[in-house]
Amino acid sequence: MIRFDSVTKKYKDDYTALDNINLEIKDGEFVSVVGQSGAGKSTLLKLIYAEEKPTEGTVFFAETPLDGISRRKLPFHRRNIGTVFQDFKLLPKKTAFENVAYALEVSGAPGGEIAENVPQILDIVGLADKMEKYPRELSGGEQQRIVIARALIHRPLVILADEPTGNLDPVSSMEIMDLLLKINKLGTIVVIASHDREIINKASKRVIVLEKGKIICDDAKGEYKIA
Ligand code: ADP
Repeated sequence: MIRFDSVTKKYKDDYTALDNINLEIKDGEFVSVVGQSGAGKSTLLKLIYAEEKPTEGTVFFAETPLDGISRRKLPFHRRNIGTVFQDFKLLPKKTAFENVAYALEVSGAPGGEIAENVPQILDIVGLADKMEKYPRELSGGEQQRIVIARALIHRPLVILADEPTGNLDPVSSMEIMDLLLKINKLGTIVVIASHDREIINKASKRVIVLEKGKIICDDAKGEYKIA
């Protein structure tokens, strides 16, 4: 489903963020990308989202090479991907329902579809009883559930999550991880970049360890052992 074929990414100043990455992620997988700050985790996710382009090599998504993707086709590619990035903020003056509905409205979905889909998705993330609450009335973990609901609204093939538990306490972090595992069980590929050793080890799923832009370990039921 996702394939990195000899992918190197250098940023402007010639810094090599990813160095000759070969990687395949199949349907149904749950993958944790771990490593120290600066190892290249976010860059790997951004290449899948086609937010950055490789300097060398090719990223394939569903057999399609992303390097030649036109501006016109980019939204169609991104429609396949739900993102839970750290800098994606909720709209403070909209309720949980409205925050999720907004993602459908901007893509021109009819009202009937919104009324049907939003409660379904909020139910999946466990917020069915808090649809009318505003972000400030919800805990950090609940707010992150709304972000995840928003990421799910187009029924993506893949969820990309960059430090999804970055700002959460240990209990909420576990709950968010359990939610991501549930979404994976429902058939969505999940790729997370994370430092959170406890949640990654609990998941007992594939772990890819990056160090200075290289994959130094790729283990099907991995543990995150590196500090
Ligand atoms: P991680 O997510 O593991 O912390 P990143 O992928 O964010 O790592 O960054 C890898 C390296 O690339 C870092 O050294 C970072 O400073 C550099 N880098 C990331 N984004 C940019 C950018 N837009 N321009 C220049 N350098 C960048």
